Amino acid sequence: MDEKLLEILACPACKGDVSLTEDRNGIVCESCRLVYPVRDGIPVMLVDEAKPLGEDDDGR
Ligand SMILES: [Zn+2]
Repeated sequence: MDEKLLEILACPACKGDVSLTEDRNGIVCESCRLVYPVRDGIPVMLVDEAKPLGEDDDGR
């Protein structure tokens, strides 16, 4: 995914900055603790599609 795209992306819930997950399969909003999916390289910036951050992370 184009990293420059990240600069123009914002969280739809809080309008805050977002960042790419380590596996590059998601876009994270740290403020909302939500992960937006990336499908076919296209970020899906919809709150309805987002998952809670850390869902598959046992670190909490
Ligand atoms: Zn947010």
